[in-house]
Amino acid sequence: MRYASFFERLVETEIPHPEVLSVYYTVPLDPAEFDGVLPRVEHLVRQAAADSGSRITLADLRDTLAATRDWLGRGVAMFVAGANGLFERLKLPAPVDDTAMVGTRPYVRPLIAIGHRCPRYGIAVVDEAHAWIWPDDEPAEITAVTDEALRKPNYAGWYGLSEYGVRSRAEGLRIRHYRRAAAEIRRFMRREGLDLLVLCGHDYEIPVFMEELPVDMRSKVSGVVAVDPRTLNPANMKPRTDPVIARRIAEYDENLAAAVVSDAATEKNAVTGLARCLAAVNARAVGTLLLDDGIRIRGAVCRGCGNLLEAGERACPDCDADVRAVPDVLEEAAVAVLRSRGKVVPLPSGLLDGGPVAARLRMPIAVFAH
Ligand SMILES: [Zn+2]
Repeated sequence: MRYASFFERLVETEIPHPEVLSVYYTVPLDPAEFDGVLPRVEHLVRQAAADSGSRITLADLRDTLAATRDWLGRGVAMFVAGANGLFERLKLPAPVDDTAMVGTRPYVRPLIAIGHRCPRYGIAVVDEAHAWIWPDDEPAEITAVTDEALRKPNYAGWYGLSEYGVRSRAEGLRIRHYRRAAAEIRRFMRREGLDLLVLCGHDYEIPVFMEELPVDMRSKVSGVVAVDPRTLNPANMKPRTDPVIARRIAEYDENLAAAVVSDAATEKNAVTGLARCLAAVNARAVGTLLLDDGIRIRGAVCRGCGNLLEAGERACPDCDADVRAVPDVLEEAAVAVLRSRGKVVPLPSGLLDGGPVAARLRMPIAVFAH
């Protein structure tokens, strides 16, 4: 995912005192509206601080915030912990909802959601004599493949060959070019560590090219976009390829949610509902945690064993220690799952049968269910 090592560091960060302030906002597309951002964010920070009984403020951050003025239309994430010195500012690939949270850790749910919704992917444009490949966020980093034999305008016209011979030779050259292009695309995807690819070209050529793609590459193709490669401008392709990736992710989300909800209904290594999911997280039994991205739930964390509990618990049922209230127990669950090398998938609202959370388990329910 984007910012993998940065993200790993954030997930591992834990600061008992003082608190960490996490702020997310989006820079307006219209620069004239930027002056409205500061009061809005300040209001959210005051609320979050009051909520957690903290004195943390935006005081020293106004300049830092103002320096993001040119990031038009982009989301911004900031993490601040005064005494500890933790200070990170990140330009995000898409807008985010305004959020401010105070806690003992950076609040990472919005970052997980952005990473899931906006993965880095490859864009490849192929025609019968060329191929161009680049990462979606770096159109300048383009790799080009050109077949010199095919570029000559009269390549099919060798003197003395029968028409059949000319055609089959031309066909052979084209197939050779497609295979070379496919091999180059595969090398590029591996080098960049990319799992998704959007294929662009003439609509009559793409299916023929797909035939020459190795099977492991075909499964990475998220969709195709019809373009005329002669009028290609890599810098302008992203608005056309992003919706292809968005559709692929929406499909993945729906299938995953439906499968986990149905497995949970028959108790097949999956659970739904907050209580059962927290029990599964506490038992380190979750392989994949599915979260409704629009829902936050107050809860508690045991100061003794670290178990996650529903709001209202005054002492831990397992070790009897005191508990600490948290503004979003789903955030705590997400981090616990990531720390135990599980996966977290944030979903659009409503996919989990009205519930806030579901989990695919690494082990049978009987192992941890009471
Ligand atoms: Zn406990």
